[in-house]
Amino acid sequence: MRVLRFHCPFTRQEIRCFDCEGQADQGDAALYQAITCPSCFRLHFVNSSTGELLSDN
Ligand SMILES: [Zn+2]
Repeated sequence: MRVLRFHCPFTRQEIRCFDCEGQADQGDAALYQAITCPSCFRLHFVNSSTGELLSDN
């Protein structure tokens, strides 16, 4: 099972997302997965290979 780890930018907590693959986009955005954060309940776009967040500014 793939585990995606990232740090929530709002709460600074480490989030571990199990079995996130069903939420992956296709095509150019396939590297980023839209994760509904269990800590802040916002949507984060997380790079599935590096765990970095996509800035939405
Ligand atoms: Zn968050």
